[in-house]
Amino acid sequence: MAHVIVLLGAPGAGKGTQAVRLARARGLAHVSTGDLLRDHQKRGTELGRKAKSFMDAGQLVPDELVLDMLDERVSREDCRKGYVLDGFPRTEVQARALERRLTGNRVDVVNLDVSDETIVQRAEGRLSCKQCGAVYHGKNAPPKKPGVCDVCGGPLVQRPDDAAPVVRERLRVYREKTAPLLHYYGERGLLESIDGERDPDAVFTDLQGLVQGDG
Ligand code: AMP
Repeated sequence: MAHVIVLLGAPGAGKGTQAVRLARARGLAHVSTGDLLRDHQKRGTELGRKAKSFMDAGQLVPDELVLDMLDERVSREDCRKGYVLDGFPRTEVQARALERRLTGNRVDVVNLDVSDETIVQRAEGRLSCKQCGAVYHGKNAPPKKPGVCDVCGGPLVQRPDDAAPVVRERLRVYREKTAPLLHYYGERGLLESIDGERDPDAVFTDLQGLVQGDG
């Protein structure tokens, strides 16, 4: 039985940071659909080209494209024991597709709860490595050397979709399409929630407590 952990939360709630740590701690794969899509763009694949205009505008990439990409990713060997999903599902269609695929496996769903104000502030200061995708924050989590990635030495840049107007649009899309998933998982008795306003270590401690155990 695989163990799949779904991290929900608005853009900038801390899903990426927590997913990386959790995957490492639990020996699971980290599957970020945003990272996968950015990688497709970088490699200039057909999917990358199709996804670009949606991503640059803060819109969701169409479900069928994301679902095919996810299927391919989670069928790889490193996902056999399980994986941490970061940025998926984002619509009810995606949640239903995931449910069909995961019947019989252990699934934990955790929402990182963060106010809109914090989200805008975090996105504005967020920097990510052009090479490896590691995420920093100019004020809250600065790199050791300004503008340089601690992990791989690559250059740090602001993601185009972290510009203020795009962040506002991503938040609007989140409320319209993704926030209803809280109700969806709540109804199924699957939803746990964590106060994501606190520092990343405190959030991580709570998160680990929630997903512990073999059951
Ligand atoms: P993220 O890195 O998770 O913030 O994702 C960046 C962008 O990629 C989003 O604003 C969407 O345009 C796209 N994206 C990532 N995951 C999904 C998904 N599950 N469904 C649709 N679009 C997605």
